[in-house]
Amino acid sequence: MSIEEKGSISIHTENIFPIIKKFLYSDNEIFLRELVSNAVDAVQKIKRLAALGQYNGELGEPLVEVILDAEKKTISILDNGLGMTAEEIKKYINQVAFSGASEFVEKFKDAKDANEIIGKFGLGFYSAFMVSDLVEIQTLSYQDGAEPAKWVCDGSTSYEISEGNRTTRGTTITLHVNAESEEFLVQSKLEEILDKYGKFLPVPIKFGTKTVQEPDGEDEEGKPKTKSVEVDKIINTTNPIWTKSPADLSDEDYLDFYKQLYPFSEDPLFWIHLNVDYPFNLTGVLYFPKVKNDLDLQRNKIKLYSRQVFITDEVKDIVPEFLMLLHGVIDSPDIPLNVSRSFLQADSNVKKINSYITKKVADKLQELFNKDRKGYEEKWGDIGLFVKYGMVSEEKFYDKAKDFALLTNTKNEQFTLGEYHDKVKDNQTDKNGQVVYIYSNDPSKQDSFIQSANKKDYDVLLMNSPIDNHFINTLEQKLEKTSLKRVDSSVASKLIEKDELLESVLSEDQSKTVKEVFEKAITKPGFNVEIVGLNPEELPVTVTMDEFMRRMKDMAQMGGGMSFYGSMPDNYKVAINGNHKLIAKILETTDAEAQGKLAKQAMDLALLAQGMLTGAELTEFVSRSVELI
Ligand code: ADP
Ligand code: MG
Repeated sequence: MSIEEKGSISIHTENIFPIIKKFLYSDNEIFLRELVSNAVDAVQKIKRLAALGQYNGELGEPLVEVILDAEKKTISILDNGLGMTAEEIKKYINQVAFSGASEFVEKFKDAKDANEIIGKFGLGFYSAFMVSDLVEIQTLSYQDGAEPAKWVCDGSTSYEISEGNRTTRGTTITLHVNAESEEFLVQSKLEEILDKYGKFLPVPIKFGTKTVQEPDGEDEEGKPKTKSVEVDKIINTTNPIWTKSPADLSDEDYLDFYKQLYPFSEDPLFWIHLNVDYPFNLTGVLYFPKVKNDLDLQRNKIKLYSRQVFITDEVKDIVPEFLMLLHGVIDSPDIPLNVSRSFLQADSNVKKINSYITKKVADKLQELFNKDRKGYEEKWGDIGLFVKYGMVSEEKFYDKAKDFALLTNTKNEQFTLGEYHDKVKDNQTDKNGQVVYIYSNDPSKQDSFIQSANKKDYDVLLMNSPIDNHFINTLEQKLEKTSLKRVDSSVASKLIEKDELLESVLSEDQSKTVKEVFEKAITKPGFNVEIVGLNPEELPVTVTMDEFMRRMKDMAQMGGGMSFYGSMPDNYKVAINGNHKLIAKILETTDAEAQGKLAKQAMDLALLAQGMLTGAELTEFVSRSVELI
């Protein structure tokens, strides 16, 4: 029997392919993903039919082959899947693709997202025309008595169906690559695309080339010679670890897989094996990499798959923002191959996936914390950033993480939020009942302040990671009756306002004199002198910036919309310890110049302790000091 049909695809627009081509131009390499995954589907369908007893013939070894013939300028995709009858070609290839064509043209005249178009209109197969002048299908159905069929289309609205030449079950798609797409006729390019999309496909994919020219020394005249070689190799792993059960996997398997995904990365800290089948299907393995303070570098490392076909590594809408630093693989058949941004944003499953992942990550961290607190503390340097980021950005995560988030103090001791509250509440509650947590964002620069705080038995937290500014705000919002103050925001005895302030021993007149001496000695603007009664052991002069003021300025600097504060000049408090013996000495000195020198010296020492004394001022300080010795 000979099958002979010429037809015209019924659409109202002359030709949709130029439109498809135009839209899809930027990511036209996906033609290979579409055709190879169709081939894989076909192989899996015949396996299922056999398993169901609906096909009793020889199955053979499942195989998909991609063959490049650079000379003939063709790429062929062969499979031993279920094949198609001529009727099926008409139904699946002709009708499906074109039924919505006029709607398509209408709607997507201005579309930007190629995947959206392909997905919506079932144009997977037709993506072949992005790179081809002519596409040919040769196919033989598994069905009893089926005849081989051939379909040819040049990308216009007409096609031709006739008797085919395949003698074995399955389908061969041959692309006659167009002039603009010759880059795909290069072996290494095709290999790269296959590796990207097909590395973990469930059916072996063999890549073969015919007559590739390779360098082969020189001829007699010293000109480079080439030889023809054929290449043949399987490019994929059919059972990647996320398809297996965690019970069958060792740590080494997980680490090996990580190496395979990210060959040049350090080993991850730990991982989470994802596995859900209700209310959506999802498998995967997420790794916690070692992150130091480099938040941005590591993004977009999670790869999204749909039934082992790579889709994208832009998982922004599936994975919560704060977990974008994780690495690994997510596979969900509920996400279409041609997933588009707008699909992800609208899809309710995606939101569920998002909260599922958040929950799994939180559970895993809690488990690590419970099982091995010490090991967990050691990893905190790496995972702390995630956890804090998560607590700052996701309410739900905060609620879980509050039990395993750690605070570190300047003595390198670690506490949970609850433990820390208990530790400091007795000594660090102010007269209004607020517990005050004191922190340092730069312990070496703020050392003298930390020491003064420690003398009062105050604990000082370390808040020096990039996220800590935000984390401090979150803690203040979440923790009841708790506020945080940077250690250098005032003199130690005023960090936590209690009723027990020491009185200054100075009389009102003396205070006035001392204040004037200092105001004269300080020539720079922005320093407000104040006489306070501190412990005589404390420094004679301390320079501080108010906590509120400093935070507003920090926020303005980070672009937090506080530009009003950002434009304000720096404003410091200069606290003069009225009880220090140096102040008594200044009062005893009658020579105004000597008084001024002493005041200036004390002031510069305070600035020096804060790293605020630089340049000419520092030089002047040094020579004055030498003189004084
Ligand atoms: P989708 O894969 O989303 O169904 P495609 O446009 O990629 O859409 O393919 C359309 C249909 O053509 C498939 O559903 C399948 O029935 C048929 N088809 C495509 N390629 C093959 C193949 N290699 N073997 C058998 N059938 C195929
Ligand atoms: Mg398809």
